[in-house]
Amino acid sequence: MHLGMLLEMAADGMADRVALGPKASGVTFAELAHRARRLGAVLEAAPGERVGLIDLNSPAVPLTLFGAAIAGKPFVPINYRLADPQLRAIVARTAPATIIVGDGVAERIGPVEGIEYLNRADALALAENPQGKESDGWGGDADDIAVLLFTSGTTGEPKAAVLRHSNLTEYIITTVEYSGSGEDEAAIVSVPPYHIAGISAVLSSTYSGRRVYQLEAFEPRAWVEVVRAESITHAMVVPTMLGRILDIIEADGQGLPSMRALSYGGGPMPLPVIERAVGLLPNVGFVNAYGLTETSSTIAVLGPDDHSAAFASDDPAVRARLASVGRPLPSLEVSIRDAVGEAVAPGERGEIYVRGGQVSGEYLGRGTSLDAEGWFPTRDEGHLDEGGYLFVHGRLDDVIVRGGENLSPGEIEAVLLEHPAVREAAVVGIPSKEWGEGVAAAVIVSGDVTEDELKAHVRARLRSSRTPDRIQFREELPFNESGKLLRRVLRTELSDAFA
Ligand code: ATP
Repeated sequence: MHLGMLLEMAADGMADRVALGPKASGVTFAELAHRARRLGAVLEAAPGERVGLIDLNSPAVPLTLFGAAIAGKPFVPINYRLADPQLRAIVARTAPATIIVGDGVAERIGPVEGIEYLNRADALALAENPQGKESDGWGGDADDIAVLLFTSGTTGEPKAAVLRHSNLTEYIITTVEYSGSGEDEAAIVSVPPYHIAGISAVLSSTYSGRRVYQLEAFEPRAWVEVVRAESITHAMVVPTMLGRILDIIEADGQGLPSMRALSYGGGPMPLPVIERAVGLLPNVGFVNAYGLTETSSTIAVLGPDDHSAAFASDDPAVRARLASVGRPLPSLEVSIRDAVGEAVAPGERGEIYVRGGQVSGEYLGRGTSLDAEGWFPTRDEGHLDEGGYLFVHGRLDDVIVRGGENLSPGEIEAVLLEHPAVREAAVVGIPSKEWGEGVAAAVIVSGDVTEDELKAHVRARLRSSRTPDRIQFREELPFNESGKLLRRVLRTELSDAFA
């Protein structure tokens, strides 16, 4: 299905429901479609083959996503926080294009050949003008490119993942009930507009008839206030966001009465954080969602029932599932393979492969990374248990090879986080004369604890090869603006510190 059709279905079936903005004064689905068609007509006539966006979250994000689809041009949201030279390089790769920009952005980048800028306020005014021409229908078909998303680049240079209309809508259609329970529901979007989770939240809300409230950028107090004032029922957060939200809730004791489904993902969630969350927010259904940009977001979920069952169970195998990402979506196939591509037995670790309609695996200018049978190698290490629950152990590229033994940083981080004084922990490999690669940890602690005590804590729970060779105590860890740990930055910092 084409995104233009998805919007038309919402505008027809749920015309008077509030689609976007505050519950008292938001825009209805019918009006959202009118505005998107007007912006679509403007973008169709605008120069360039693509439509970029460099801005904070605002109503311009869903409007540009749908407006670009109607114009038949790929939507390319770009990270406004990049340093100016990086931003200019990505903008140049997006050309020829018209780019919708927030205040001051065009001045930061300067002129780039093949790029026209359109100010966000002007774009919104054109969309809102009742006299404006409306595009009828939509450009292209379901096999065309809908969105180009630069991955966060936590492991290397950002790559532009190609997502076709069919990839995105396949995900929505197979996971969301059309115009179902969306009435009286509202989702807050606080991840940046260039993150797949923000795009999929807008699309699944449009399909289910759920209102979307765009928070300009994530700030924990504003997030909590909006959730309470706007009766928000659905949200998606990355692990670092959840910890900061819980600090506020614990301090004021008021909970989140309207929240029904709080999804977390984008990176491994430390078990103590989710245990704390379930304790502080007993009314909330928690969902661990595992996915990648290249797979149009979620491919496996651990839902609220799984969370409750794991908490209530005395069976260690069931309780351990709290650390899993649940079961793959029924519309997908997942397989775990060894280094030569052979499927491994349940319980054994390997690379996670996935196949299905929502999986793109294609990059701009680099072709596809799907194999001949359509399987996508995620570059994540994981295993399936006997019940089909998927466990993600981290990026294969982050594996530390110490003296010939492969170690997962995530396993060591999880054990460090079990120590009561450790608030945050990250583990990377650093050059070692003795072992080839050594294990280095960076920790943020809240009590009195020594390096030797932390090493003894790890040694008592894991094999001695997994005990960090070096530990650095720090005030903060390097995260990108989506809240993801920048491992390659940390690796460089710790390699320098312990050289
Ligand atoms: P790049 O690919 O450029 O390095 P990135 O890794 O941040 O950037 P994304 O597509 O945003 O790219 O992130 C996907 C990765 O995030 C997955 O491959 C996985 O390692 C991790 N991840 C996502 N959700 C979860 C989850 N629920 N639990 C554990 N890890 C997760």
